[in-house]
Amino acid sequence: MLYLDYAANTPVDPKVLESFTKLSTEYIANPNAAHTLGKAAKDKLDDYTAEIALLLEVKPSEIIYTSGATESNNLAIIGACHYYKRYGKHIITTYLEHSSVSSTATSLHNEGYEIEFVDILPNGEIDLEHLKSLLRSDTIMIALSEVDSELGARQPISKIRELLDSKYPHCLLHVDATQAIGKVKVPMEHVDLLTFSAHKFYGLNGCGVLIKKDKVMLEPIIHGGTSTTAFRSGTPTLALIGSLGEALKLAETTRETRYEYVSRLNDHLRKGLGAYKNVIINSPLEGSPYILNLSIIGIKAREVQERLAEREIYVATKSACCTLNSPSRPVYAITKDRKMALSTLRISLSHLTTEEEVKAFLVQLGQVLASF
Ligand code: PMP
Repeated sequence: MLYLDYAANTPVDPKVLESFTKLSTEYIANPNAAHTLGKAAKDKLDDYTAEIALLLEVKPSEIIYTSGATESNNLAIIGACHYYKRYGKHIITTYLEHSSVSSTATSLHNEGYEIEFVDILPNGEIDLEHLKSLLRSDTIMIALSEVDSELGARQPISKIRELLDSKYPHCLLHVDATQAIGKVKVPMEHVDLLTFSAHKFYGLNGCGVLIKKDKVMLEPIIHGGTSTTAFRSGTPTLALIGSLGEALKLAETTRETRYEYVSRLNDHLRKGLGAYKNVIINSPLEGSPYILNLSIIGIKAREVQERLAEREIYVATKSACCTLNSPSRPVYAITKDRKMALSTLRISLSHLTTEEEVKAFLVQLGQVLASF
């Protein structure tokens, strides 16, 4: 089996699973319970929150736990845009975004908000000049990903911050860092809101984070008790949160060595793919090395994916959350070519991927392409 779809999901690290099992069995009480067992669970939760805050360079009060990045993006965008609607209803986003950002923006559009899309340059970065021209006094949010899930393109977060500070300090910067946390250095000091999920860095499914800087306000979207925060109700899942903390520690403390290693794999893959006439690499060189997106000219990517899967090689055609036969919006945004956007494969790498696997993938892909 050759798994090259780590941007969709990662296998749980055994140490992370161990901490999940230990916390689930050792802490049986609800952290909100008033008795001593509840207090012990709450203290443990607070210890993890302090540790996660330290790793992310934020304050413990700025961390909101959710069920995953989808919920975090919904809460950040809907919650903040509802709260600040008296200042305006103009939101700027991009065509690179995951559906949990783009569909959430659409839902706000249906409520009467105005959504505009900033142009993307061929290297996958937003066009800052176009952004300048879109910003208005009633723009309340820019929502975009630090690393997008299809191309792996990175955005100039610090330049966007500079722009906002100089002219639009009231406009919030929301960053979806789901493909960035544990992989690249995230400029936490420049964001107002930031989201991610544990299962993208060897943690468990079902746990995510929203960083909300203390100065930012939100209207909650889930109503109920105010267990750990007034902004998100529900009993906090200590074992999931603790295991997210363990996964984050492992990812953050090895981030640079993993990055260098994966960059070498990415180089190798790019060089190897260069030998195939009908393959065009879409991912920008300056993007995240963890994601490599390509278009296969004249062949349906979905069929390539199926033939690879018959050989137990698993890659994505797009982000796992997109409809199968629609063109890739990110690839269309940088190429303006519908054919290229309809035939994309996304290969996503890990520090667990070996050189041998990359070599084997290149050989097998060559055979699959020749079979059409
Ligand atoms: N944003 C990005 C950039 C993603 O890649 C994903 C997952 N594919 C999400 C948000 C949603 O994450 P989850 O499925 O964990 O809610």
